[in-house]
Amino acid sequence: MKFPILKNKSANHHNCITCKKKLKSDFYVFNAGALKQITKDHQIMDKDLKGFCYINAHLDNELLYETLSVAESTPMGQFEIYTCSIQCMRKFFEKVFDEFSNKCLKKLEGK
Ligand SMILES: [Zn+2]
Repeated sequence: MKFPILKNKSANHHNCITCKKKLKSDFYVFNAGALKQITKDHQIMDKDLKGFCYINAHLDNELLYETLSVAESTPMGQFEIYTCSIQCMRKFFEKVFDEFSNKCLKKLEGK
């Protein structure tokens, strides 16, 4: 799996991010982003917003820093990650955390 999963686009809603199967009528979505506050009770998507999802670590008493970009520069401040099943959603997040864990370990080994 190549990170960031999403860059300059909000989603791939045709295929499961994990197993690549074509999505049918049942699917799962992890959705995150920002909305622009218009009034006290009203928010909207906005073309000036860019979304992101990073995992960061401050390591070795903050001498080292590591990050994994999962999504960046997503239009309208939004992004969605589609899977065909909750198992594939779980596997997706496992891959995210495995990748980040490996990056952190390599950073600590290389200090
Ligand atoms: Zn799948």
